[in-house]
Amino acid sequence: MKKTIRDYNLENKKVLIRCDFNVPLSNGQITDDNRIKESLPTIKFAIDHQAKTILLSHLGRVKEESDLAKNNLAPIADRLSKLLLHPVIFCNKTRGIELENAINLMNPGDVLLIQNTRYEDLNDQKESTNNKDLAKYWASLGDIFINDAFGTIHRSHASNVGIGELLPNGIGFLIEKELKALEVLNHPTSPFIVLLGGAKVADKIGVIENFIKKADSIIIGGGMAFTFLKAKGYEIGKSLVDPQNIAFAKEMLDRYPNKIVLPVDVNVTTEFSNTTPNRIASVKEISPTEMGMDLGPNSIRHIKTILTGAKLVLWNGPLGVYEMDKYQYATKEILEYLASTSTYTVLGGGDIVASAGELGYKDKVSHASTGGGATLEYLEGKILPGLSIINERVE
Ligand code: AMP
Repeated sequence: MKKTIRDYNLENKKVLIRCDFNVPLSNGQITDDNRIKESLPTIKFAIDHQAKTILLSHLGRVKEESDLAKNNLAPIADRLSKLLLHPVIFCNKTRGIELENAINLMNPGDVLLIQNTRYEDLNDQKESTNNKDLAKYWASLGDIFINDAFGTIHRSHASNVGIGELLPNGIGFLIEKELKALEVLNHPTSPFIVLLGGAKVADKIGVIENFIKKADSIIIGGGMAFTFLKAKGYEIGKSLVDPQNIAFAKEMLDRYPNKIVLPVDVNVTTEFSNTTPNRIASVKEISPTEMGMDLGPNSIRHIKTILTGAKLVLWNGPLGVYEMDKYQYATKEILEYLASTSTYTVLGGGDIVASAGELGYKDKVSHASTGGGATLEYLEGKILPGLSIINERVE
């Protein structure tokens, strides 16, 4: 068990909290403040325990001077203050006397947000390459480091790994919640079903390798399915295919013929569009001019049969082109089905969480992981640098 913010006496301590405030902005306006909301429990805990709370986060990418203005954290400080119902001091600097003075003036219970950590990337990418001097400087500003940025836990940056190595450290409530939910997958209860979809086979190879022995079935849908159908020798027409990974798909089908489950019918059309006529086709009768956009009713029925009685489901990647109304059907039907059961269902980050949010199911499943790349790397069984430097709790 990793140390958490609960393991420290925070009173009058300068507590550096790495948050994930990497929210979408349009013309300086926040279009989705979910990530700020997810960070509130940890920040509130620090305020309630009379810490001097110093927040760090990245926002977007900073490669040149012109990236500075559009990735300014000032609007996040305003929104955070409104959500916390508590003042947030914003320091427009990432280092220097102005920042140090602002910190020296803090009282217990105060909250200060430092400007975007990636402003330091203009300076030889000091943040993103985990520059030791920068980490040392930031660590000198605090007494305790808490990492609550799950979305960057797979990165080794100065503001998470660098500072974390130099101070007494722990995780915040968001990372703790994520780990609790995802750790269930390391010791799965059978029947355990993995559902994979989306477009990129390459992204999911590690997930298949990590779970192929632990899972009872791996169901492949979405655009990914066509690389597997092609590996079986079917005509897939103009459907999405990843030529580089047909050999991998073939190997998996040969080695695990009873574990990998492929669609039996699909919803096809002739253009990647919501308006061209579509039809349901058996996977054996896709014509060279057609492309598969979603699963068909027989595939959905088959998937529901496999999911019946499942104790644990991990789902990564939508089953169709959910962004188009016509091709949301399979993703929606299976979300609806899982939401109606007591199966412990984990949505593994990225587009499946976005689609569940859009279709109204995000809060109806057991856990929707907030990380994109971070969740995927966790699911691949990789070591996460932002987590491995956090101290273990001595029981
Ligand atoms: P990924 O990031 O790999 O999970 O891919 C997510 C994307 O896969 C979404 O934008 C979906 O529209 C897309 N997708 C799902 N099914 C298909 C399909 N049959 N053909 C093309 N793209 C698909």
